[in-house]
Amino acid sequence: MKITRISVFQKTLPLKKPYALSGGRLIFKELDSTFVKIETDEGLTGWAEGCPWGHTYLPAHGPGLRAAIETMAPAVLGLDPRQAAKLNRAMDLALPGHLYAKAPLDIACLDIAGRAAGLPIADLLGGRYDGPAPVASSISTGTPDEMLALINEYRAAGYRVHSAKIGGDTTLDIERVRRLAADERPGEFIFFDVNRAWTVSEAVTVMNAVTDVAAVFEQPCETLEQCAHVARRTRHAISIDERLETPGDLHTIITGGIGEIVNIKINRVGGLTRARLLRDICLHHGIRMLVMETGGSALADTQCHHLAQSIPPEYLLGTWLCHEMLSVDPVPPRAGSRNINGCAAAPEAPGLGVAPDEPALGAPTAVYEYE
Ligand code: MG
Repeated sequence: MKITRISVFQKTLPLKKPYALSGGRLIFKELDSTFVKIETDEGLTGWAEGCPWGHTYLPAHGPGLRAAIETMAPAVLGLDPRQAAKLNRAMDLALPGHLYAKAPLDIACLDIAGRAAGLPIADLLGGRYDGPAPVASSISTGTPDEMLALINEYRAAGYRVHSAKIGGDTTLDIERVRRLAADERPGEFIFFDVNRAWTVSEAVTVMNAVTDVAAVFEQPCETLEQCAHVARRTRHAISIDERLETPGDLHTIITGGIGEIVNIKINRVGGLTRARLLRDICLHHGIRMLVMETGGSALADTQCHHLAQSIPPEYLLGTWLCHEMLSVDPVPPRAGSRNINGCAAAPEAPGLGVAPDEPALGAPTAVYEYE
């Protein structure tokens, strides 16, 4: 089987309301998403979505993703989409780095491989565990009252895992942690996501001011070195998110004692084939995981739920459904992974088990063909 055509679609996804991260220094109103359709000489088609969270969250942005696909397309056309390792190697040789641009190509090929084998991607990734995954809310930075009101909205939809975004003001952060933790209900897990906002001294100050609270803090500082410093000065569990891209990063996180949890963002780490390797290293070392996309429609959310479904439930802390925050969704209603009382599952149909509504994407911005 050969890849014969790669079609690229750009779609702007507006958020229902502006969203603040990292103590309010990062504000988001819309996402620039890229949908990729891969066709083969045997008539099978695969889809995937790559959607950076704006262009300030990570060194990744929509135009860059599409430019990187243009660069890699000649190396990908003609390959067998069922051979994921060879595909990823070919992309690495054609364009070092740029992992976030490789993710949709990797995933669209896995979609085809699953359809060819008659298996959902969760089974291609090693096998599906029973039960849906708990979905984490995403609580925009605000006053403690505003954040508690948002958590209550999510509770009404069944959510029991909450990612509360803090940072920017140490006194207010201590109050946020205390108020939200005091309101935590039995069976809930609230973690405090700093999104790199703290300096090392701010992290040590806030975390050591709440030693009586069993809180988890995500990505307290910008770099792994800074987080390692904080880890030596606190007893709190730390989750690493933005600074986990490669297996080398994960090695540093584990051997450096920097984090007990990691947040595997499928787009950031370069797709599901590479995320699978990170998953297995985490399992070996007893590291629990959150599994998310960096953003996107219900198609991207479904991609992340196939990996989530392949993780033993005791190792999976939560996932995310970005599409619930969008005012448009180019995926047919109820198709793909959706919220069911605070949980979501990967489809059981072959491949991703979902495809976008192609007319809703408009005309492709680029088409690359095998000659
Ligand atoms: Mg995070």
